Amino acid sequence: MLKTPSGQLQRCRQDFPILKQKIHGKPLVYLDNAATTQRPTVVTDAMKAFVESDYANTHGRIHALSERAQTHFDEGRETVARFIGAEYTDEVVFVSGATHGLNWVAQGFFGPHLKSGDRVLVTVMEHHSNFVPWQQLCQRVGAECVVIDIDDAGQLDLEQLSVELARNPVCLVMAHVSNVLGQINPVKTCVELAHQHGVKVVVDGAQAAGRIPINVSDLGCDFYVFSGHKMYGPSGMGVVYGRRTHWSNMQPWILGGGAVATVSAEQVTFLAPPACFEAGTQHVEGVVGLTAAIRYIESIGLSVIAAHERALGQYIWQALSGYRGCRVLGGMPDCGLISFVLEGMHPHDVVMLLDQLGIAIRGGHHCAQPLMKRFGVMASSRVSCAVYNTRDEVDVFLNALGQVQEVLGAQ
Ligand code: PMP
Repeated sequence: MLKTPSGQLQRCRQDFPILKQKIHGKPLVYLDNAATTQRPTVVTDAMKAFVESDYANTHGRIHALSERAQTHFDEGRETVARFIGAEYTDEVVFVSGATHGLNWVAQGFFGPHLKSGDRVLVTVMEHHSNFVPWQQLCQRVGAECVVIDIDDAGQLDLEQLSVELARNPVCLVMAHVSNVLGQINPVKTCVELAHQHGVKVVVDGAQAAGRIPINVSDLGCDFYVFSGHKMYGPSGMGVVYGRRTHWSNMQPWILGGGAVATVSAEQVTFLAPPACFEAGTQHVEGVVGLTAAIRYIESIGLSVIAAHERALGQYIWQALSGYRGCRVLGGMPDCGLISFVLEGMHPHDVVMLLDQLGIAIRGGHHCAQPLMKRFGVMASSRVSCAVYNTRDEVDVFLNALGQVQEVLGAQ
């Protein structure tokens, strides 16, 4: 039996004005949080206050507003570094999102060194944003992109991984939490295995940030990437964590103003990291919003959020597993994120009919086509929870799914 959320969690719904509305005359039940989470008022207020009173370009602290904007920017970096357990603040680089960050690591760090015959390990469950950059990079230089499989329960094949790690690959790239299966991958174990062979590990934390506690120092990974908009923060804002020792092997990938110390007709010298990796005008209000989102998450407690989402996820998983004609992809999830296929029904139809009942979930391949193929399906429906979802909402969804099944099954 699922425990009711504490009063604190029940109250936190009030922090999200968007949830108060009706859709097609029904109370909105927002269960599409793996695509993006909603933002609490403290985040939008912080961004608005910054733009209305402290906004200016950073880079240089030239006048009072610029000084204030730079202070917000620096505070944001410190907050992110603490939030993810980075040892040094300058290990945090701001990017526009996880997709940008993963391309940045692939092209900027590994790209210049990867050569024909090298091997890169990716898992079959990667989001396209952590699959395509590596596949294409490998194809360009004649390297091999090796795909690590999972079992039917969604668990990584650690035996295959061990065999492949012993074959001297350049890196292993893996999701911390799958955006389809909702399980937490054993990143720390994989990093330990990989480092025994001198293999670097890049972690896609897009579905982990804001869901479960993250400590990059404890995980031991080389790079960790995530977006702000999946953790109650703004879109257009993301983070790359990279171990300080790697910066000396990384040439700035995006070049331009703000990243350079001196430029002549012949040559350039760059600023020290992380500034040399952040060319161009930065998304300072995004950093302000991300900082506010982190403070919001911390005010509730990530372990409270993680336990709440896990309880909801496992409740949904159990209900769907007993549902006639319903195939749940993978095993019991560790988070509130479950994908399923209803026999004879296209996920898009399921999503559209639920939308008529005010319920937002997602249907499609979830940018994980290699994983869909692994499970022998073209697409699935996905329900994903966040801190503000309640057991009552989940019951509304489960009951509605029964109605949908009747409507579509009768056709
Ligand atoms: N990785 C995973 C696991 C994701 O779920 C997503 C977003 N769906 C991304 C990467 C890409 O994130 P963004 O769209 O914020 O760049």
